[in-house]
Amino acid sequence: MSVTGLPPYDEGNIFARILRGEIPCKKVHEDSWALAFHDIHPQAPVHVLVIPKGPYVSAADFHASAPAELIAGFWRAVSATAKALGLEEGGYRILANMGADAGQEVPHFHVHIFGGRPLGRMVP
Ligand code: 5GP
Repeated sequence: MSVTGLPPYDEGNIFARILRGEIPCKKVHEDSWALAFHDIHPQAPVHVLVIPKGPYVSAADFHASAPAELIAGFWRAVSATAKALGLEEGGYRILANMGADAGQEVPHFHVHIFGGRPLGRMVP
């Protein structure tokens, strides 16, 4: 059981398959630590997902068990992705769903980057 009560990591999840190159994606950024690609059902003019290169179900799982250099590299990749998308000037939102109550659909830790228009105040 992972930190958030989700099942253990499943190597067959859709983002694991994208990482292995078995399923295509519209790549924005890739480095040793992370892969960033456009969401298949965008909820904003810019909607990109950033995933770490490792078997982590959720943010809690990632922060509890990933090596420190991967955690640092991942978050740097989130910023590099936003910069590559031209979002630094206007601003953007990052969000991570964790577990059932947050509606997490894909059990591989990911951060959403939303931008490209004024996003308003965050409502839970
Ligand atoms: P969650 O609800 O888990 O935080 O978000 C999962 C996200 O992954 C959703 O926004 C969904 O549209 C996106 N998604 C699901 N399957 C695919 C896929 O095969 N390719 C891409 N690019 N995005 C996907």
